[in-house]
Amino acid sequence: MLQGVVASYESKNIHIITSSIEHHSVLNTCHALEKKGVEITYLPVDIVCRISLDGVKSAIKPNTKFVSIMLANNEIGTIQPIAELGQILHRHNILFHTDAVQAVGHFPVNVDALRVDFLTASAHKFNGVKGTGILYKRFGTPLPQLVFGGEQKRGIRAGTENVAGIVAAGYALEENVAYMTETTALLNSLLNITISGIQVKIQNLRINGDSKSRLPGMVTLGFNNIFGESLLHLLDLKGICISTSSACNSGKNEPAHVLLALGQTDVQANSAIRILYGRYTMEEAEVITEISNTIQIKVLYSICQPEKPLP
Ligand SMILES: *Cc1c(COP(=O)(O)O)cnc(C)c1O
Repeated sequence: MLQGVVASYESKNIHIITSSIEHHSVLNTCHALEKKGVEITYLPVDIVCRISLDGVKSAIKPNTKFVSIMLANNEIGTIQPIAELGQILHRHNILFHTDAVQAVGHFPVNVDALRVDFLTASAHKFNGVKGTGILYKRFGTPLPQLVFGGEQKRGIRAGTENVAGIVAAGYALEENVAYMTETTALLNSLLNITISGIQVKIQNLRINGDSKSRLPGMVTLGFNNIFGESLLHLLDLKGICISTSSACNSGKNEPAHVLLALGQTDVQANSAIRILYGRYTMEEAEVITEISNTIQIKVLYSICQPEKPLP
């Protein structure tokens, strides 16, 4: 979509604003566009992972054509002030896309309230099947064809539709929206119990992100002297699945770019674990106790014997 928007301009002398905490689907596309001569500004974030509206305003140039900022971050859950940003960009006549993959199906999203021209979502992030996504495009906004072939999807993207995937996505989204209030309450309560359970046992716990504005059911924690990866394996042995950073990064052995963007060191970022509850997570007090016990044992052990990076 980003490439399509760029293709719609004759000249490559255009400027795009994005942030340093975007998903790689946006970041790597921007890197590729940069190689073709497009100028990109990667905005920094503050310590809770929020971009600054003033920062966006002062980054705008006469040739700024497009801004892409995610609605909710997939690694630490911070929700960005997209509606406020939408108003600013609308006044400047700049096209605005938000990556709402973590938001759609999880909290109310309204394209008019957000004032976005484009919004993307992915079915498998709201209990749909993999391989189906959603692109919202405001009526009248031009988007030239990138994938050539037949004239399906009104000429935006050629190829036969995955009808089963689309129907499943619609059904999954309806279900998620119907149960949204209940789900949010459940996820927030599970998360609060988990965080307070861990906090009681561990000093110097880092709770990353914005506690006032974050995705329901997700938290990323950081510790001293330990590796998130080894906590992950310990919990895995007990049948509890957590993650260290995003699935797209797994096995890369690199600290999460989002945590580095918050100003954390490699060691701090590598200690992070992400706990994520979903609609089908059952409240099991023993599991939550097990998580905090495991973390406590690991942390106490690491005080005597700090972990060293694997060779
Ligand atoms: C998962 C994710 C994507 C990528 O979606 P896929 O359909 O898995 O390629 C993009 N952005 C965010 C914020 C995500 O969480």
